[in-house]
Amino acid sequence: MAPIPGSGLAKGLAVTLRTMTKKTVTAQYPDVQPELPPRTRGVIALFEENCTVCMLCARECPDWCIYIDSHKETVPPAAPGGRERSRNVLDRFAIDFSLCMYCGICIEVCPFDALFWTPEFEYAETDIHELTHERDKLREWMWTVPAPPALDPGAEEPKEIAAARKTADKLAAEQAAEAERAAQAAGAGEAGRPDAPAAPPSGPQEGQS
Ligand code: SF4
Ligand code: SF4
Repeated sequence: MAPIPGSGLAKGLAVTLRTMTKKTVTAQYPDVQPELPPRTRGVIALFEENCTVCMLCARECPDWCIYIDSHKETVPPAAPGGRERSRNVLDRFAIDFSLCMYCGICIEVCPFDALFWTPEFEYAETDIHELTHERDKLREWMWTVPAPPALDPGAEEPKEIAAARKTADKLAAEQAAEAERAAQAAGAGEAGRPDAPAAPPSGPQEGQS
């Protein structure tokens, strides 16, 4: 059967109309920033204070793209008569993102929560050497780490938060005790001065009933 003249044009217009009324999925990046899920693997951030230089991340990285240098320092004993201790001090921590395959193994194996994913992805470079992020840059990424999701209602408090609260309470108690001691010492000093007003009598006075 011969096609009806103009039917092809009508079909084409119908497809155009359908497409025009559909929701657009194209993101106009970079004018419009994409809405990335919080668990996006963009770049790795380092929280240096938590790193104990245990080297687990560097050993487990399948691409060998984590570079760590450190030296040992002797720490004096915490109490008189105690033993000196030695601790590792971080000299260099770098990740070469031109080699990294974003597997996340380093973050998984870190026993001290020193590495985190952040969704930031705008760090392309024209020089490949610039893709090796040293520790200062890795630390800057920490500001872009999303907050962890809220706990389920009724979930147990994480042990890290409980430990942090205990430490904060202990510090606050020590500071309060210190302030009280300082106030008592200042009061005693005032009372010991020759021109200080006489202390009010504490017992019943003569003539009083
Ligand atoms: S994400 Fe994987 S490849 Fe990249 S640094 Fe970590 S362990 Fe290595
Ligand atoms: S595994 Fe964690 S604590 Fe150990 S060296 Fe790597 S970042 Fe530091």
